[in-house]
Amino acid sequence: MNRLWKLSELMPIRILPEEVAARIAAGEVIERPASVVKELVENSIDAGAADIKIAMRQGGRRLIRVIDDGEGIPADEVQLAFERYATSKLKTVDDLAHIATLGFRGEALPSIAAVSQVTVITRAKGEEVGTLFRLEGGRAVRHEGRGAAQGTLVTVENLFYNTPARLKFLRSQATEGRHISDLVTCYAMAYPELRFDLLSEGRTVFQSKGSGQPYDVLVDVYGLKIAQQMLEIQVDSVAKSAITVHGYVSDPALHRSNSRHVTILVNGRWVRDRLLSYAVREAYHTLLPKGRYPIVVLKVELPSEQVDINVHPAKSEIRFRNSGEAFALVQRAVRQTIAQKAPIPRESSSFDWERAFETRQRHLVGVSRGARPSRGELALEVQRTEEIPAMTDLPRKGKLPMLRVLGQLGRAYIIAEGPTGMYLIDQHAAHERILYEQFRAERAKAGVSSQGLLEPLVLEPGPRQAAMVEERLVNLGEFGFEIEPFGGDNYLVRAVPAILRGTDLTQVILDIMDEAERRNTAPSWEEGFIISLACHGAIKAGQTLSLEQMQELVRQLEETSLPRTCPHGRPTMLHVSAQQLEREFGRR
Ligand code: ADP
Ligand code: MG
Repeated sequence: MNRLWKLSELMPIRILPEEVAARIAAGEVIERPASVVKELVENSIDAGAADIKIAMRQGGRRLIRVIDDGEGIPADEVQLAFERYATSKLKTVDDLAHIATLGFRGEALPSIAAVSQVTVITRAKGEEVGTLFRLEGGRAVRHEGRGAAQGTLVTVENLFYNTPARLKFLRSQATEGRHISDLVTCYAMAYPELRFDLLSEGRTVFQSKGSGQPYDVLVDVYGLKIAQQMLEIQVDSVAKSAITVHGYVSDPALHRSNSRHVTILVNGRWVRDRLLSYAVREAYHTLLPKGRYPIVVLKVELPSEQVDINVHPAKSEIRFRNSGEAFALVQRAVRQTIAQKAPIPRESSSFDWERAFETRQRHLVGVSRGARPSRGELALEVQRTEEIPAMTDLPRKGKLPMLRVLGQLGRAYIIAEGPTGMYLIDQHAAHERILYEQFRAERAKAGVSSQGLLEPLVLEPGPRQAAMVEERLVNLGEFGFEIEPFGGDNYLVRAVPAILRGTDLTQVILDIMDEAERRNTAPSWEEGFIISLACHGAIKAGQTLSLEQMQELVRQLEETSLPRTCPHGRPTMLHVSAQQLEREFGRR
């Protein structure tokens, strides 16, 4: 057992040395390289800059530099700016209720300085000479006059060099770099009148021109093709509210595999707000396939006293004074825009079997047991075969019993009979398992079968995803893709792995890339990529299958090593034993 310590045996209580306190506090504000960029860019915007250049090396770990042409910091205030709670943006408690600037806590510069080596070169409007000030681990090491253009240049080197624990938690350079580019593109969308340049390893990876037109930035961020499919948010004038909603939402035909592309800007600030994200999701309810997300740029403006941004040091969480109103307005604005502008959805190709099944089961349960069923409860005690090996005398692993295919249900499930009862096989999950194992086997033999395209396809990922494609070009080659740069952010696709035959390739390739990045850590990028590849290559729910096709599918499933789960770990089949059927029908 652990030894219990008496408090007195530890240490006397004392105030933490300033250096330790500063590092602890810094952790709240600066979580990763992108947090540094966020704070510096916000400062540049607050300083009235028109042109903001951001450079990074090694995903921001080695170096982050932000240059602006804003007001600059007066020579006699430079050192003060790095003190905790030093700000030019707030004076009294009352000011907290009407914050019009992005910064106000006076914590960013000292926090950054505490965990890195910072050099600032700045010259304020009206001053002759500028200032160079350098700190290492929060300690000033240089302070001198220096000729400089008006504005501010902040260089942050070796972030977290003195906090190894933090350093360990950073993800790959690519991932950290992507967080930075996401952040910069968000602020570019929030401020179309400002020019943003983002360089990585000296190469421009994103640029906005500062034309003032939100649509232009949308093109800069997502590329022309996607921008053209976006719908400008339109709100009917009936809604009288102090809250306004602008921006763009994607046509329901355009969607992505994760919510990264839902950008929420409240009063010019990029925030993560669960309430508004939920409002967007609700607005798209039933319009998007399951697990898919729209591309959204939502700009919400409201009087500053109606929203509290002082919730967390990172200032990315907010609280609305009237959250119900904000929710309803956003949901209505998005929904209306889609309804008015989007092409009428064609007859849905995927039968909503899930819903039909659930309703029916609820009915069944209600009648047979008189009990109120909970959501998703099944009348039959259908259980995952994995969980009831004893009842089914099936081996837990390995070969399936001989199955006789009887038919298809709801264009999603194969009904089959086995020696011990009925099987419902999820056609998508089963096919995913088959493709996953086939693909891995092919790779092990270094022979992924690739399919040349009759006409090469132009992939236009837009700057946001282009970096990801570029970085993975070699991997993509190993997986049977033939992809080459095609000028700008575009790529030419000449061949794809054979398992992707017949899918909407442009969309699917980007989705797979996105998903693989998200699963990057578990257990590897390659594994995540194969899982996504199998998922996208697999037969979908909603597809009618012939008896022969179903028999072939079941036969191939029998040959896999783990036929009972898909690569995501969901069951491929449900088993209802003969005993269960007898019991349910009152035969026993
Ligand atoms: P806050 O932004 O909350 O005031 P910071 O620590 O980010 O706190 O910055 C401290 C102060 O330094 C700011 O209030 C501002 O006066 C000054 N400052 C920081 N960055 C810039 C910049 N890029 N241009 C002009 N002034 C700046
Ligand atoms: Mg600030």
